[in-house]
Amino acid sequence: MRRTVLTCGDLGGPCPRCDGAISLHVAETVEGDRLLWIVTSRCVDCGHVDEMRDRPGVFDFDSIVRQTLIDRVGLTRLRADPAANRGLRLRALAVFRKRGATVAETADACAALTGDGLAGTPAEMAILAGQLAAEGIQVTLQP
Ligand SMILES: [Zn+2]
Repeated sequence: MRRTVLTCGDLGGPCPRCDGAISLHVAETVEGDRLLWIVTSRCVDCGHVDEMRDRPGVFDFDSIVRQTLIDRVGLTRLRADPAANRGLRLRALAVFRKRGATVAETADACAALTGDGLAGTPAEMAILAGQLAAEGIQVTLQP
């Protein structure tokens, strides 16, 4: 699991025990086929620790957590060679539709997948790579 550290007093508020400043540690991982974020807050004064583990969409600072991960660990790019995956476009479309993409987003995602690649956090792309591979689609991940 890659870990990154986010220090921002605005996100977590003051320490519930001593009102001191807290630092937030942000990590992402994959559990099954789900992306999981782990945000650990640690008071710099008294050492009080809280941990929140859940999927994106639960925290009200999702975009900040995601951007922090990208700033620290960078984007991972997922590509599928069009020649190696000839005839598998419908399966790829079905994967994106199952993930909740609209028809237009699905077409764009497929075009990107076989073009410059799709970019996301390492865990996001690992999940998608697994879903595509399960449909027989050959993909590569690049940092
Ligand atoms: Zn404290």
